[in-house]
Amino acid sequence: MKQYADLHNHLYGSITSEFLFEMGKSNPSPRWEIFTHSYQQYYGKNISTETFFEDYKNPDSFRKLYQFSHHGPFPEFQAKFNLIIALSKFNPEEIALVASRIVEDQFSQGVTFGEYRIMYSPKDTEEGIYEKTIAACEGLAEGEEKTGGLAKGKLVVSLHRDGDVFQEYALLKRLMEKNSLIRDYLVGLDFCYIEEGFPPKDKRKFLEEVNKDNVVQKDTALSILYHVGESFQDKSILSASRWVLETADWGAHRLGHAIALGLDPFSLKGKVLESKSERLDQMQLYYDRKEELDSYFEMPSRERIGNEIDSLKHKETVELEMSPSFLQECFGFQNFCMDQIKKTNAVIESCPSSNEYIGMVLDPLTHPILRFAKHDLKFTISTDDPGIFGTTIQEEYRKAEKIGLSASILESVRLNSFLYSSEILSGRKSVS
Ligand SMILES: [Zn+2]
Repeated sequence: MKQYADLHNHLYGSITSEFLFEMGKSNPSPRWEIFTHSYQQYYGKNISTETFFEDYKNPDSFRKLYQFSHHGPFPEFQAKFNLIIALSKFNPEEIALVASRIVEDQFSQGVTFGEYRIMYSPKDTEEGIYEKTIAACEGLAEGEEKTGGLAKGKLVVSLHRDGDVFQEYALLKRLMEKNSLIRDYLVGLDFCYIEEGFPPKDKRKFLEEVNKDNVVQKDTALSILYHVGESFQDKSILSASRWVLETADWGAHRLGHAIALGLDPFSLKGKVLESKSERLDQMQLYYDRKEELDSYFEMPSRERIGNEIDSLKHKETVELEMSPSFLQECFGFQNFCMDQIKKTNAVIESCPSSNEYIGMVLDPLTHPILRFAKHDLKFTISTDDPGIFGTTIQEEYRKAEKIGLSASILESVRLNSFLYSSEILSGRKSVS
């Protein structure tokens, strides 16, 4: 069997249907309300909690209830993800069990190196986070042992975009000082969940600080993994591509999804609204880098850009129409961003099933991965939430092939992915 590195994977989203059923059945007090309300709201179905495990004892019916494998907006995905939250206890004992099972499950599908993301409640205490992090690391170590040491699993902690990330980071660094297992297994920081409303410019100082620390604290260096350009309901694809570029420029090591960067803009229709501040940032970039941008699309003169900047003073939002010239501009600007990102060390994590289901990349021919490959960008292929999507790493590579990547490109992506591990990108380890 071919060996794979799966670098973008959320621990609890990797729980298989059968395993979740088992976990729920052994949980004396599932938090039903988290699931039943949202399920009713998005799927119009009443779930009887008293007879739940009897009603869904057939594995196929439980799988149907749990797995998300259709095009749908994020809240529909979340409504299904809430079943995981409802049925799990999220205590150290369970976290260890989940971590161990994931390493084993993925190994049976060819994954010999995985990085697994975990997110704690913003209300959790330092002691609580310490216990859960040790448990996750112990679980990963146990999973490795069960594969006879053939598989390796590492841990990444997802920070809260709306929280004090400096404090969360300092806490994790303290835990690494305190415990050698955590030091060995914790390799990165992730930004995930809703991205709308959280521009990367607010995290610039943080990204720069982590990178600075990584140089002087090599043993505890942490990669920054950043979901960006995955969902951009609140802005144009231009601004969303700029977000991806900024994230790479400011030192993120891997970019989660980056759909906006490579999605074929000619598939877009209608109009889009964005905030004045996004449009201003875009216009400022055009103004500052006009000469570089001139070869990518028909750029307006500096005078016209200046006029638009002035006119924005009196507006709150801007409406942009997907006219042929606007789409040409999007296409050219994406190419500019891709060329710039190529000069950084950033690696894109592309997750075909996830992009198809929640990323709303409806037509495979428009899939961003095709342009990532054409531009010779560094990218990896991952499963994201293989349990809830009902997928495997091999299935994701098959999907990428169907989208149009050649066997030789896929083979180099597979091999290069082992070089894109957090430890290598953060400078903790050198390529051996
Ligand atoms: Zn993800």
